[in-house]
Amino acid sequence: MRANYRMQRLFVEPTLAANVDFEASRDQFHYLANVLRAEEGAEVLVFNGRDGEWRARLSYPTRKRLLLTPLEQTRPQPAASDLHYLFAPLKAGRLDYLVQKAVEMGAGVLQPVMTQHVQGKITSVDRIEANVIEAAEQCGILGIPEVRSPRRLEELLQDWPADRRIVFCDEGHDSQNPLPALGEIEERKLALLVGPEGGFSDAERALLRGLPFVTAIPLGPRILRADTAAVAAMAVIQATIGDWK
Ligand code: SAH
Repeated sequence: MRANYRMQRLFVEPTLAANVDFEASRDQFHYLANVLRAEEGAEVLVFNGRDGEWRARLSYPTRKRLLLTPLEQTRPQPAASDLHYLFAPLKAGRLDYLVQKAVEMGAGVLQPVMTQHVQGKITSVDRIEANVIEAAEQCGILGIPEVRSPRRLEELLQDWPADRRIVFCDEGHDSQNPLPALGEIEERKLALLVGPEGGFSDAERALLRGLPFVTAIPLGPRILRADTAAVAAMAVIQATIGDWK
């Protein structure tokens, strides 16, 4: 079921159940009361990543307090998205974009990966999580993707579970069309690996190509920036073997 785009949607922490009210966070109080000037009795949609989405009513017991009362569930909690997205960190502004787009495209786990030519670094997992929540609020995604802490590529590959196939975007691939390689994938569990702005090193490419659980794909005749490559790859994956099918 697609989301209702006319109502404000907010991520909240507390458990959601009919008529069990809870206090809005300070930021949400500020946003609803001061920015939106929402009145007593106005309704918003709330979700917590566990209990589905609920229509909730606002009330102000005092001028400084805002309560949210869940009234009815508007959408049940869906199964969590299972696509793992393995990405080399980019510089700050582009990293925000990359995280938001990955969530919109259906990534369920975000795993930063440190490769040889990586230029960005993860200064704050909190900032990634804030971007994840913002994208989920905007796009009506009810399962909040998990953000993992950064790992080195070799280390990640060493204890990789063999039943999850890694789709590796290989800018050095000798063809242009990703569909034949994707068509051969039988596993249901998938991960997508996109390199940093500097690309993969020859050693990394050789390592990846030698692993039985890795499928290398090209993405057309042009070199794409890493954030563009991720969106393009998720679109072809979702349309062929993912949740657009
Ligand atoms: N500096 C590198 C390009 C890196 S692009 C060079 O000039 O070769 C960043 C990442 O996006 C790559 O590591 C790869 O994972 C992905 N990517 C970009 N264009 C691609 C393409 N045409 N095919 C497959 N992957 C691509």
